[in-house]
Parts: sequence; C-alpha cells; structure tokens
Amino acid sequence: MLNNGFLYQVTFMASVFPVNCYLVAEEEGLTLLDAALPYSMKGIVRASKTIGKPITKIILTHAHEDHVGALDRLKEELPDVPVYISVRDNRILNGDTSLDEHEPQTPIKGGVPKKLKTRANILMKEGDLIGSLAAIETPGHTPGSMSFIDTRTKAIIAGDAYQTRGGIAVAGDVKPWFPFPAFGTWSKETSLASAKKLVSYQPKLLAVGHGEMLENPIVEMERAIKNLERKLK
Ligand SMILES: [Zn+2]
Repeated sequence: MLNNGFLYQVTFMASVFPVNCYLVAEEEGLTLLDAALPYSMKGIVRASKTIGKPITKIILTHAHEDHVGALDRLKEELPDVPVYISVRDNRILNGDTSLDEHEPQTPIKGGVPKKLKTRANILMKEGDLIGSLAAIETPGHTPGSMSFIDTRTKAIIAGDAYQTRGGIAVAGDVKPWFPFPAFGTWSKETSLASAKKLVSYQPKLLAVGHGEMLENPIVEMERAIKNLERKLK
C-alpha cells in the first residue's frame, strides 16, 4: 500500500492487469474511491484496518466493472456506508447504456456491470464536496466519468481519465503495453477536453485507475495531451 499524504493506493493484480483503488483519510474515517475487482473486498478492508480508520464513504469514478467489482461484497460487509456516483454514470451503473442527444453518438464501451445489486445513494455533480474531495466532471472514458481533487493537497484522483501504466496517456490513447483503458473509452475528443480541464487545476499529484501515482504531474499530463491531440488530427 503506497501512501502519499492523505492518499493511500491499493493495487490488485499488479503484474498483469493492475487495478487501483484509493483510500483518502479524513478526520473521522476513510473515503474509498472505486471498488476494484470482485475478490478485492478483503484487501480493501485489510488496508483500512492497517490505516486504522473505518471506511465511511464509497465514491465511484465511473461505472466500469473493474472499478465496481467488490461493491456488492463491500456493501454486505459495510451496509451503512453510502455509495456516490455521478448523475450521468449512475445510469450505466444501473445497466442503461443509452446516450443523450447532445452527447457524441458513439457506443459506451468497456465492461458495463450486469449483475451488480448495489445502487448508489448519492448522485454527484460538478463542484460537489465530499469531505475534502471536490468533484470534477471529466467525461470521455465514460459519459459520466468524474475526477476528484483533494482540496488539502491538490492531489487528483482521475479514475481512467488518464492512465500511467504502459506510459502516461489520456483516456482513448492506445498504449501498446497497456491498451485496455483505451479500448474501454467512449469519446476521445471528450476525454481530451477533460484531460486539459484537469491540468487547469494545477495538480500536485495524479492518481489513476491503472498505473502508479505521479508526483508533480503537469509536464507529463501536457505531454499526454499533445500525444492524443496529434493522433486525433
Ligand atoms: Zn474504465
């Protein structure tokens, strides 16, 4: 478990298909961001015990299977903990992959959960504060993907808006050594705009769903933006 200030990264299947979730320490407890893979429940609960605080909130960056995997089992273990997701991705969480008229008309990709029982308790929108985390709408990977900035440290947890495994990339930019987040991305043009939006927050750290955390990430984020821009021309 890697610790960076208030932020703890918990990784599963590190060598093959690394999937991260994060625990953010607040005064009274921990906020879990994403729920990794079906068998990840025990590892997540163990991490919270090591830190010494209970999980009091679960936030989902988006509704893909490798980010909600342990959600049902976590809810069995922690039935009173509320689950947060964006208004838009809540539809995907509930199995609805329809698009709105104003959205790019390309199909929603990636593993959309089919057998999930858990329903979200609180639906988030731009600017919502969940403890120390401010919600930032960063659509592209999915229509309702969200990132979060820790207002204490300027660490950004970006879900799959970026990846760092296989080299830093904006969602949709295929990295040969780890192409899976790109394969699961809905709209590259939209994710490019969101990637730029995240740079505008001047983050001190970038934490993503797949790959290691990056300190002082702005130069590398800008490089990733240029790479995708070049491919989209
Ligand atoms: Zn995803």
